[in-house]
Amino acid sequence: MEAFTVSTGSGTSFEDITEQVRRAVKNLGVREGLCCVYVPHTTAAVTINENADPTVCRDIIMEFNRLIPLEGGYSHMEGNSAAHIKSTIVGESVCVPVSGADLGLGTWQGIYFCEFDGPRKRTVHVTVR
Ligand code: ZN
Repeated sequence: MEAFTVSTGSGTSFEDITEQVRRAVKNLGVREGLCCVYVPHTTAAVTINENADPTVCRDIIMEFNRLIPLEGGYSHMEGNSAAHIKSTIVGESVCVPVSGADLGLGTWQGIYFCEFDGPRKRTVHVTVR
């Protein structure tokens, strides 16, 4: 397994981690297989979406914030229930095919670390089998 850290922005933000994941896959030395990108956090997540037009991620974040407001009559005492809810909806891992020791992403796809309770220093785990 390879790991790297991500320093995130405040509140909800998406960070493109495609190149860090690509580097981790090369370091692991597996030419053909499956890459699991895993986020060991409860108020963050990982997803794959368009990396050509930054307004796509901006729209996703805007809609998440509209659907899951910061204040929602939640019970969780820490005050970050909205972040926990967003994290569980998006999910803690993505799986990407590996071919020729590189990520088999589509032309318009990038891998995004999704911060829902930033700013924080986060960790991403990459495993290839
Ligand atoms: Zn919490």
